[in-house]
Amino acid sequence: MRALTALPLDDDLIDRIFTFCPEFATLHSLILVSKAFRRSITRAVAYNIVGPALPQALRVIRYPYHTADGGDRQQDDPGVLATECPEDHDASVISPDEKKSLERNSKTIEALEDIFSLTQKDRTSRTSVLTTDESWRFRRAAYRIMLYCNIFPASHGDDLDEDSIRHVQRQRTAVLQEYPTDELLQLYAVFRFFRGILEDACDEDADNQSSIVNVLLTMGPDGVKHVWDERTYHSLADEIDFDWDEDLDYPLYRGYFSLPLDNIWTARKVKPPKDEEPASKFILDTIIGANDTCSQCAAPGGLSLLTEANWRRAPLYPGHLLKGKLQQTVTIQKSLFDMLHAHSRDNHDSSDSDSRYYFTDENCGPWIASVFDVSKPTEWDGWTKDKSYCLTCLTNFLEEHLWRWLLQEQIKGGWSPPQNCWYGYNCRTMVHNQTHANKLNHLCVPTRGDP
Ligand SMILES: [Zn+2]
Ligand SMILES: [Zn+2]
Repeated sequence: MRALTALPLDDDLIDRIFTFCPEFATLHSLILVSKAFRRSITRAVAYNIVGPALPQALRVIRYPYHTADGGDRQQDDPGVLATECPEDHDASVISPDEKKSLERNSKTIEALEDIFSLTQKDRTSRTSVLTTDESWRFRRAAYRIMLYCNIFPASHGDDLDEDSIRHVQRQRTAVLQEYPTDELLQLYAVFRFFRGILEDACDEDADNQSSIVNVLLTMGPDGVKHVWDERTYHSLADEIDFDWDEDLDYPLYRGYFSLPLDNIWTARKVKPPKDEEPASKFILDTIIGANDTCSQCAAPGGLSLLTEANWRRAPLYPGHLLKGKLQQTVTIQKSLFDMLHAHSRDNHDSSDSDSRYYFTDENCGPWIASVFDVSKPTEWDGWTKDKSYCLTCLTNFLEEHLWRWLLQEQIKGGWSPPQNCWYGYNCRTMVHNQTHANKLNHLCVPTRGDP
């Protein structure tokens, strides 16, 4: 086994060399040198996992979140809480357990950087294309948010009185106050990006959206990734020890990040960043394709244009994309959904426990690719899946081709279509007459009636 990757010798071989040492003294010094070497290698390995945000990542896993007897620290002096276990920039020993925690957290941060990159930097790549500097800013800020959320969890302090709540708010301000203004603006940008993901997942609860988001934020980057993956916040909400009916307006969560940040902007006489300023403003040096336009209608769109890398997040509902009266016909809807399910299983690793979430209203990326592969009428020449489209153009394309795709897939599955109905996808009879709907084929262009 080669644990020491930088050393051109196997561990076994090193052991053999040790056994040939003529004197104990030599052996001892060899072991000492070797140990020091192992330590620095471990740190180098940790650096490879985490990158230049290692001091921030280490603080997250080493911070003493509880008092010696396991209690929480809401009585502690804000200054003490803020300066404990500072970010360590010097070489130090990293234990195997710490390495595991670093790896686990780094997976979350890396996944979030991919999402940040896809939504804020380059819509055509699902893995991060952030430059080294941009990535460092993002990760440093994300780890600091992780630390903050660990120090101030949602379960922190049931039924605190007003004074205690003010004390916790002073602690929160003190923790963030440790960072210089430019790095705090970067933290704000990443926080704003996280908040945007949570807001999108809560938009059906518009009345309570900001209160819900403040509580969800306490789950930190892991919670944000969870919500992004599931496209809903409900299962994350279940994980939080919190009474969603009673405590939603509990002042402890109000302005979870924004209140301490506002305190600091005021104290430092910094112009507060505007809420609508893009999350990318303080992290990114450049945005790729910011001025790109739709390949078909030339509408401006930049990052919001849709292409293969990002269309799985587009608000496209297959049931609404069927042409004409097909949309209102139960048997057609059913065969469409059966086909989409079969299709998503084919394209998806069935060992993945997330497969039940794979097919949701908003999670329909892979079938779009196969709709592009269906044979198209000549007026659609040049519409290929690698191009970028505005939502209107992509919707039009899918409306014209989803029924063709359904026809093609059913034939592939062994179906022989009966005779075409004259009224094709515009037939009104199929909507209320199931016998008629089954007797004739309606996945065809009308030859009679209102086209
Ligand atoms: Zn367009
Ligand atoms: Zn008909």
